[in-house]
Amino acid sequence: MAKSTPRLFVDQSLIVDAEITLAAEQAHYLGAVLRLQTGATVSIFNGRDGEFLSQISEVAKKKMLLRIETQTSAPKLPPDIDYLFAPLKHQRLDYLVQKATELGARRLRPIITARTIAERVNLDRMRANVIEAAEQCELVFVPEVLEPMTLNATMREWDSNRALIYCDEEAVQSDPMLALAKLKPPAAILVGPEGGFAAEERAMLKALPYVTAVSLGPRIMRADTAAVAILALVQAVLGDWK
Ligand code: SAH
Repeated sequence: MAKSTPRLFVDQSLIVDAEITLAAEQAHYLGAVLRLQTGATVSIFNGRDGEFLSQISEVAKKKMLLRIETQTSAPKLPPDIDYLFAPLKHQRLDYLVQKATELGARRLRPIITARTIAERVNLDRMRANVIEAAEQCELVFVPEVLEPMTLNATMREWDSNRALIYCDEEAVQSDPMLALAKLKPPAAILVGPEGGFAAEERAMLKALPYVTAVSLGPRIMRADTAAVAILALVQAVLGDWK
C-alpha cells in the first residue's frame, strides 16, 4: 500500500464488494482536508474484520461512500494483556494511552485509586487517541477503552485466571525479568497515579494470589514513563516480542 494511502479505523462490518458510508467527520477529513475525489483509494480496518483497500464511490456534502475492493490483512490482535492505569492529567494521559496502544495493550482500563488526581475521565478523548495511534502505527486492531472503575471494585470482580502485574514503586528491588518469566497471558498490568499507591491498596494487592509485585529498578519514574517501561518488559518476556 502506498505510504500516501490514507488509513482509517472504521467500526463497521467490512466485507469485500460491500459499500459503506463513512461517518461525517471521516468524510470531511478525506473530502475537505485531503481533497480526495471518487476513485481515490482508502485503506480501512478494524480489529474484527481486518484491513481492506477501498475506493471512494461517492462524494456528497456531508457523506462519502466507499466500495470495499480487496482484503489486505487479517485482524492482528496483540497478546491478551490488559493495561490498567490511574488516569493522569491531559497531555500525560494522551501520551500514556497512545504508547499503551502502540505497545500492544489488548484493553485499556482506567482505574480510580485513592490518590488518582484526574477527577473526570474523558473517555471520548482517550478513544480518539487510541484510534489515532492505531491508524498511524499500522495496527490492525484497536484496543477497547473501558469505563473507569475503582481499584477495589476491579479487584472484587477480578478473573483469577488473569495474572496481575502490579508495578510497585516501593517493592524491594529484584529482577523484573525473573518475576515476569513465571507468567503468561491472559495477564494485566497495573501502574499507579503520580501520588503512588496508598498503603492499604498495596496491602490489598499483595494479599492476592494472582498478583505479582514488580520493581522497575531504583529510580522512581513518572506513571507515563513506567507505562512504557513495563509494557516493553512484558511484551518482551511474555508477550509477542519474543
Ligand atoms: N509518588 C510516588 C511515585 C509514583 S510513580 C512516590 O514518590 O513514591 C507512579 C507509578 O509508576 C507508581 O505507582 C508505580 O506503579 C510506577 N512506578 C514508578 N517507578 C517505579 C519503580 N521504580 N518500580 C515500580 N513501579 C514504578
